[in-house]
Amino acid sequence: MSKILVIEDNEAARENISDILRLEGFEPLVATNGQQGLELAFQHTPDLIICDVMMPKLNGYEVLEALGKDERLSTIPFIFLTAKAARYDVRQGMTLGSSDYLTKPFSPSELVAAIKTQLKRKETITQSYAQQINHLQRSIDQNSHTDELTQLPNQAALSQTLEQYLTEDKDFSLFIISVDQFSFLSSTLSTADTEELIKLIAQRIQKVFPHSMASESLKDTFRMGQNQFSVLTDQVDPDGGQLPRTAYRFLNLLRAPYILNGKAVNVTTSIGIASTTNITDASRQVSRVESLLQGAKTALYKVQQKGGNDYCFYRPEMIFSAFERLDVENALYYALQQDELEVFYQPQVDISAGSVVGVEALLRWKSAQLGWVSPTKFIPIAEEIGLINDISNWVLWQACEQVKKWQKLMVKPIGVSVNLSAVQLSQPGLCETVSKILQKTAIAPHLLCLEITENALIKNKGYAINILQELKKMGIRIAIDDFGTGYSGLGYLSSFPCNTIKLDRMFIQDIHQRYSNQRIVSAIINMSHELELKVIAEGAETQDELDYLKLQGCDIVQGFVHSRPMPSSDVTKFIQATTSEPLDSNPAPITTTTRALPSA
Ligand code: C2E
Ligand code: MG
Ligand code: MG
Repeated sequence: MSKILVIEDNEAARENISDILRLEGFEPLVATNGQQGLELAFQHTPDLIICDVMMPKLNGYEVLEALGKDERLSTIPFIFLTAKAARYDVRQGMTLGSSDYLTKPFSPSELVAAIKTQLKRKETITQSYAQQINHLQRSIDQNSHTDELTQLPNQAALSQTLEQYLTEDKDFSLFIISVDQFSFLSSTLSTADTEELIKLIAQRIQKVFPHSMASESLKDTFRMGQNQFSVLTDQVDPDGGQLPRTAYRFLNLLRAPYILNGKAVNVTTSIGIASTTNITDASRQVSRVESLLQGAKTALYKVQQKGGNDYCFYRPEMIFSAFERLDVENALYYALQQDELEVFYQPQVDISAGSVVGVEALLRWKSAQLGWVSPTKFIPIAEEIGLINDISNWVLWQACEQVKKWQKLMVKPIGVSVNLSAVQLSQPGLCETVSKILQKTAIAPHLLCLEITENALIKNKGYAINILQELKKMGIRIAIDDFGTGYSGLGYLSSFPCNTIKLDRMFIQDIHQRYSNQRIVSAIINMSHELELKVIAEGAETQDELDYLKLQGCDIVQGFVHSRPMPSSDVTKFIQATTSEPLDSNPAPITTTTRALPSA
């Protein structure tokens, strides 16, 4: 029931109006003067005010003026009652904010019509405000839950959706899809092309799951961060094959070239998957939303550590390795500054002559907090957090400086092989950096060999080949590391600009007894020799393996059978002991295992 405040000093008029109001179903509040009217207005906040103009003490204008000063009361519809419809009175009333006026005497229907019109107007205005506020709120909500570039729901929306599904006790899986090596990728593209690429990736992801939130089926796609997307699916059966099939579909679909500005760009992705059915009680100490996100991220790290372009399911025992990774990441930032890194060298021995023909520089890190950390663990992390260039350049300097020192000590120069990370290969300025280091250390380029893994080469084939060609032109030697693990096939050998093939350890282990590996190794050796490439067998541990490799015509062996990686001073002694190199004045006994790490 609308409350109408009537301010009228004339008793008869006041009662007359009140009666009409009551009859029409309104609730009248009555005031006999302006002062009382204001008090009732403040007290009851009426829906409408009817006020006489001419009143002793506080007249109608003064009442209206006072109401106008209060934010809450100033919007109440206000109808003046005037004895005469003098233009001046009307204008003054309207100027002060009156909504309407009635000239006395007026009929009940005139009064009711004026009241209803004003109440209706107020209601329309209120509704329209409410609508506008709703609309505004919705668009604020939408903006804060939508990724501007792809128009996909964002991280905040994901958390909200996860929360909702978990509250409803639904079982589902969360995929986190991350574009591999994104920072490098975006550094080679213009901002517009990078944005276009992200949009195209988003479109392809939605092609696998083209359902929207409105869909009955529990599926949706979100953009989580710069290079990460997430997808929800009601599939939860890692063993039933449905989830792996979905993961493969994503990997394959996203791997196909993207055409940006007429140029094809290749992208690979890594996928971490966590299912609600896999969250253990232990991990439920944090919220279930957090556990699920953490699980998928942990699985994603696993894939990324192995070089990406694959998927992995979260298992509860993985969570510990994620914490471990964080420790490694933090400690790595200080490793270089705090002198925790050291380069070890592993001899490469000519299989027929038995002499050392070179060494491979292998990075060692003894962290003050974590103890020895394997390069297989920290190198991928250094690549991800952008430290790999500093670390690699430091290794290159150390290795070249060491070659110079050996040159002074020995008649026959010893060359050094340094591992290049895939990230380095893809960064501008590599050739310049290498050339600068060679100049400053004044060593001949052919004494430096750069090793690049077959996998890194395949992943970055286009530009990697150009860079390797340039390095080769500078006189630097190139070795393809871990050959045989990248599925490039023998046919690729001729297209790689290289001098040496390093056969991966997995083929060498027990080679004298494993027929399948024997066939592969002999084919690689023959093919390499036809292409005038040297073959180094990595990881030979036993005399049997060594004998077999010799029989097959392998050129060089690098493995524990000769020596583990060791500090430079031990290598010096090793070389001097295995060749007829002149010894320094006071040779120490060979201790090849001194300070060497346990098995790599
Ligand atoms: P890699 O370049 O293939 O190096 C050979 C690895 O095999 C070394 O492991 C070496 O210690 C190990 N190894 C050699 N002979 C044997 C053997 O007879 N038996 C066994 N079980 N292992 C043997 P390490 O030093 O742990 O290095 C692992 C990987 O880390 C290297 O593989 C390389 O990919 C990477 N790495 C090491 N140092 C550097 C570096 O300075 N820069 C970059 N980018 N990567 C590095
Ligand atoms: Mg290597
Ligand atoms: Mg290797």
